[in-house]
Amino acid sequence: MARYTGPVCRRCRREGEKLFLKGEKCSKNVCPMNNRAVAPGQHGNSRRKLSEYGQQLREKQKAKRIYGLMEKQFLGYFDVATNMKGITGENMLRLLEMRLDNAMYRLGYGRSRTEARQIVRHNLITVNGKKVNIPSYQLKVGDTIEVREKSRTLQRFKEVIEVTSSRIVPEWLSSEHEHLRGTVVSAPTREQITVPVNETLIVEFYSK
Ligand code: SF4
Repeated sequence: MARYTGPVCRRCRREGEKLFLKGEKCSKNVCPMNNRAVAPGQHGNSRRKLSEYGQQLREKQKAKRIYGLMEKQFLGYFDVATNMKGITGENMLRLLEMRLDNAMYRLGYGRSRTEARQIVRHNLITVNGKKVNIPSYQLKVGDTIEVREKSRTLQRFKEVIEVTSSRIVPEWLSSEHEHLRGTVVSAPTREQITVPVNETLIVEFYSK
């Protein structure tokens, strides 16, 4: 399936909650969810009660949208999580959180996950001193993520840091904002993964 290129805010309206996909705009009054929180389309005002399948589907779609993934990529995470020890849903969320683009977003080096992904793709990041331009790069405990030295003075990062300076960095990461450097201190626990997703419904969806 092709990547969605339509209006981003429509995705929040579809899910009926803020997914924080646009960075700065999401915390401002102009966010459409503040005054037009109805589903898109002609029948957007009439939200029907969802069937069990419908709830599972919506939960899966929501998680996909939050992390900005396509179906095949998302399903890949489920498959990997299924073969890991522990609880499949939690494993899947942990894998998603430990993507390089997500960690960049959590550290505040991107206003949104989309921007963080773009920064990674533009070769501006190193992991343990080596250039990495793969947004899905899976981080490990102990890895150090850093904005490349020659890129640190870019106006872009000044603007990003200004907007994200009040963002709370989760405990599984440590950040040295002044050096644009962060370290993976531990794998995130479920409590530290703050996405508004019920992973059990996603597991049920794929287990049918
Ligand atoms: Fe969602 Fe952000 Fe758009 Fe609001 S501004 S609808 S939170 S993407």
